[in-house]
Amino acid sequence: MRFQEAKRIEKLPPYLFARIEKLIEEKKAQGVDVISLGIGDPDTPTPQHIIKRAQEELENPANHQYPSSAGMLSYRQAVADWYDRRFGVQLDPESEVVSLIGSKEGIAHIAWCYVDPGDVVLVPDPGYPVYGQGTILAGGEPYYLPLKAENGFLPDLSAVPEDIARRAKMLFINYPNNPTGAIATKEFFAGVVDFARKHEILVCHDAAYSEIAFDGYRPPSFLETPGAKEVGIEFHSVSKTYNMTGWRIGWAVGNSGAVQALGRLKTNIDSGVFQAVQHAAITALSGPQDNVKELCEMYRERRDLVVDTLNNLGWNLVKPKATFYIWVPVPPGYTSTSFAEEVLDKTGVVITPGIGYGQEGEGYFRISLTIPKERLAEAMSRMKENLGPFFEK
Ligand SMILES: *Cc1c(COP(=O)(O)O)cnc(C)c1O
Repeated sequence: MRFQEAKRIEKLPPYLFARIEKLIEEKKAQGVDVISLGIGDPDTPTPQHIIKRAQEELENPANHQYPSSAGMLSYRQAVADWYDRRFGVQLDPESEVVSLIGSKEGIAHIAWCYVDPGDVVLVPDPGYPVYGQGTILAGGEPYYLPLKAENGFLPDLSAVPEDIARRAKMLFINYPNNPTGAIATKEFFAGVVDFARKHEILVCHDAAYSEIAFDGYRPPSFLETPGAKEVGIEFHSVSKTYNMTGWRIGWAVGNSGAVQALGRLKTNIDSGVFQAVQHAAITALSGPQDNVKELCEMYRERRDLVVDTLNNLGWNLVKPKATFYIWVPVPPGYTSTSFAEEVLDKTGVVITPGIGYGQEGEGYFRISLTIPKERLAEAMSRMKENLGPFFEK
C-alpha cells in the first residue's frame, strides 16, 4: 500500500544531493579513499567533564521520569546566567527561556505559533534549510531574501516589497552565518529591530555559531541590540560550542510572549529533554570554558590551511571570522553541482554545492572544517595537485 502523502509533505523540496551521493558510492566502489568536507558536525568529542556529569546524573532515578517540557528551572537559570556573563543580556528564566530538543526543533516549530496558511516568512537564501521547511510545514510561504557577497551576505531589508512586508509574520536571520561564514554588524541588527517594529514581524535569530570565532572577534547576540527583546527571540544550543550535536539540547530566549507560545506548543508535542542531558548542558554552560578556546584555535588552524590552499590555486578569499565553514565561489564555467562533481572525480574530495542552501547559493560551494587535520591536509594536497588551473593569470 502506498498512501497519498499530505500536501505539506509533497511541498517539501526534493532532495538535491542524490546525484552526488551516487557518484560518491561509485568512487568508493572503485576503491577511492573518499574524504568528505560536506558535513557540518564537530569531529572532536564532548569535553570529559561534561560527559562525567551526565554519567553521574544517569544514576539518579529522579532523572528517569518525564522532564518538564519547558526545561528544569536550574537549566533555564544556567542559560540566563550564561547570557548575562557572555553578552550582558538579562533574561528571566521563568518567562524568557525555554528548553528545546536542539535548536533545530524550535526553529522548525516556531512557525506553528505565528504562521497561518498564506502568511509570509522572510527567509535568508542561501540558508539553513529548516527556516523554509518549517514555514512550509506550517502552511506558510517563504519569501527568500538573497544574501549577496556585495552586501557582506546580509539581507537588504529595504528591498522587501511593501505588500510582502505587510504579510510577513516572521524573519529568520543567522549570524555568524551558515553557510557563508558571514558576521553581522551591530548596525545591521539595529536595522532589523526597526524593520520588525515597523512591520510587526517576529525576528528569529539563529545564533548557533556565536562561540566559534577567530582572530579576537566576539560575535554579539541579537538580544544585545536595543529593543531586540520587544521584537525577537534567539535560538541557540550547546551543539557547536561543546561538540554536543548528538545530545539534542538547546534553547529559545528573548521575547516572553514568543518564548511562552513556543513552550505552549511544545507541551502538546514533546515532553522535554532528558534531565541527565539538561544537567550536562548546565555543566557545559557554567563550567570551565578552556575547551571552547581550544576548539576555536583548532578550527582557526584548519581554516588557514584551507583558505591558503585555495588562494594558492588562484582564489582570492578572505578568511572568515567565525563558523567552521568556508564559502567559496566556483570557478568560471562551472555550476555549483558540476564543480562539486569535478572535484570529487579528480580528487575523491566531497564539497557541498551551494545550490543545496537555496537558489542564491548557486555559484558557490561550502567546505566544512569539521574533519581531522591530517585528513583535511590530505584533501588539500590532492586539490593542489589535481585541480586547475581555473583562473587566468
Ligand atoms: C548546526 C546548526 C544549528 C544547531 O542545531 P542543533 O539542533 O542545536 O544541534 C542551528 N542552526 C544552524 C544554522 C546550524 O548550522
